[in-house]
Amino acid sequence: MELNIVCIPGDGIGPEIVAEARKVLEKVALVFGHKMNFKDILMGGASIDVHGVPLTKEAVEDAKASDAVLMGSIGGDTTTSPWYKLPPDKRPEAGLLGIRKALNLFANLRPAVLYDELANACPLKKEISGDGFDIMIMRELTGGLYFGERRTTEENGVRTAVDTLVYNENEIRRIAVKGFDIAKKRRGKVTSVDKANVLDSSRLWRKVVEEVAQNYPDVVLEHMLVDNCAMQLVKNPAQFDVILTENMFGDILSDEASMVTGSIGMLASASLNDSKFGLYEPSHGSAPDIAGKDIANPIATVLSAAMMLRYSFDLDREADAVEEAVKQVLKEGYRTGDIMSEGCTQVGCREMGDLLASKIG
Ligand code: NAD
Repeated sequence: MELNIVCIPGDGIGPEIVAEARKVLEKVALVFGHKMNFKDILMGGASIDVHGVPLTKEAVEDAKASDAVLMGSIGGDTTTSPWYKLPPDKRPEAGLLGIRKALNLFANLRPAVLYDELANACPLKKEISGDGFDIMIMRELTGGLYFGERRTTEENGVRTAVDTLVYNENEIRRIAVKGFDIAKKRRGKVTSVDKANVLDSSRLWRKVVEEVAQNYPDVVLEHMLVDNCAMQLVKNPAQFDVILTENMFGDILSDEASMVTGSIGMLASASLNDSKFGLYEPSHGSAPDIAGKDIANPIATVLSAAMMLRYSFDLDREADAVEEAVKQVLKEGYRTGDIMSEGCTQVGCREMGDLLASKIG
């Protein structure tokens, strides 16, 4: 397979972690007989420094012309970096919002996996975390409360604020289809999370998800209210496979799920559109405090690259090989500083990338 991958190294630790993910992808290409063409584009602070804006039209065109985008992270120290003296629409984050919009990325995927070797980092009691868990949170990214009409008014000295939560059936259907498709590649279970006991938008959500489920007889569907889901995540996380939910519920639940894994340097993510195209990036930020020191953990970016292989290219064997390499390296006791524990061998970002690449093939 010939694949054109656009890389956005970005700011802070971004260039370091993307270099390691690319190293792993290059090894995958070599071992499995693919041709991967990489092209770097600028975004965020790196683009501001060169072009005066966080994202150029040319960069968007390059991303659109690619098969998938692999990103590090953008942004700097928000108190000291001169980027944050610029108006909001010229700051690094505006680049990320701009590219998500331009590429129509409406489905956000955030896995929360507890690895046996990192079980100590999990804040849950051993009897709850049990044999670990592997959850995929699928969050709708372009609708709901964050994009509905909003206003603040004042009448007779009393201020009133209104936000509106709007979903139409098409928006619900397209994310539900993604959720079921992804459950088919996993353990075949979708938990659709809503607040159907109160909200009309949730009642429509539930109906449309049920309609979509008709086309997936081999996937088990259950519904769960969002308040219960928040509790179940810390009570019995292993019950979940794919959690499918709207924008704000997903925002909150995905942070909760990632916290229960205990390590920010391990968390991948993907944002997809309605074709197989996606932007893949770690869940963490650009960590300016550790940039350029060769101590960042590249695993979240490497696992994001594995998601790219699986969800954009349908290269499941190759994705399995990358995920297996991560497990193997952890099993052998290698750790970057953020996940270091007694008795393990501490390695830097580059060495971790070398180790991961060496386990493929
Ligand atoms: P952060 O995730 O960058 O860092 C939080 C803490 O985690 C820091 O101590 C950092 O050193 C550590 N950390 C993060 N990733 C790590 C890794 N791979 N290995 C080892 N340690 C790691 O969050 P922050 O400090 O709040 O934000 C820094 C910048 O990142 C800000 O400009 C913010 O806007 C930006 N940001 C960007 C994205 C994105 O590009 N999608 C997401 C979140 C934050």
